[in-house]
Amino acid sequence: MLNEGFGTSARRSERVLLRIPIRVVGNDTRGEAFDETTYTLVVNRSGALIAVAHLLHPGAVIKITNIKSQISCSFVVVMRAAGSLSGTSEWGVKCLAPEMEIWGVHFPERSKEPAEADLTHVLLECRECSSREMAALTAEEYRRLEAQSRLPRPCPRCGVIKDWKFVVTEIGLGGISPSLPVPSASGLTPRHEADRPRDQTLAVKLPLEIRRPDGSEESTKTENISESSLCFACDLEMQIGDRVYVSVGLDPPAEKRDIPACIIWRSPAQGKGRAFYGAVLEKTNDTPGASYRSSVFAEARRVQL
Ligand SMILES: [Zn+2]
Repeated sequence: MLNEGFGTSARRSERVLLRIPIRVVGNDTRGEAFDETTYTLVVNRSGALIAVAHLLHPGAVIKITNIKSQISCSFVVVMRAAGSLSGTSEWGVKCLAPEMEIWGVHFPERSKEPAEADLTHVLLECRECSSREMAALTAEEYRRLEAQSRLPRPCPRCGVIKDWKFVVTEIGLGGISPSLPVPSASGLTPRHEADRPRDQTLAVKLPLEIRRPDGSEESTKTENISESSLCFACDLEMQIGDRVYVSVGLDPPAEKRDIPACIIWRSPAQGKGRAFYGAVLEKTNDTPGASYRSSVFAEARRVQL
């Protein structure tokens, strides 16, 4: 269900893995009122996947408040998620007033043009007014953003062209968050993993090829990336500790290189065997400090300051 837009038949906007603190008020399956402070795991324009310890009935209406913005909306519980990334029960919920943009992110309508497939979706923020948008960028725009960590584009709120920047989140599902298992297979963990204070994550949907040692492979897109890890959804059946080779980005195939990576978590999804995976990139001798596009992150950090 993670990949199916929270139980709706088709996703009408890009999803983004984003941890947003929320307050949920409703009634549990016993009819008792509850008030729980928790967070989102994945959001899109019309819904979310949220962690809620209380048991909920599909069809029940709950009130969710975005704690930061204090915007509240009613949501319908669609279903309980098959897997759990957070260690607690997770629920797909559908917003009854999506126009309120409770997540503080503008999700443009998906274009029906074939060109949509060539666009790269990136969570961006206006540097002037902090409006957020899951922006659909051309390859040229993305490369410019990647090179300069800023991209001039129209801001609906500012009403003029402003610089937009990557949104850097400190807890991403592609990174190692406190609620997720830390890779324990010794030797597979990058040595400097512990040295870094936090994995800074960008929500970027880049073309991604996954290859397994047995030769099976799949093309998909990243859900988010950090300097040393990435999160993606795919149909390949993999287990924690499995070694894979990943090739990420918009470069032509000849210029791409395979980076060895280790699966550190997976979250099964209902139907089709599709699952979310988190993987850490391995550092190897021939690629010193092997992380891809580490300049993106250095620059992104600088711009955030
Ligand atoms: Zn703005």
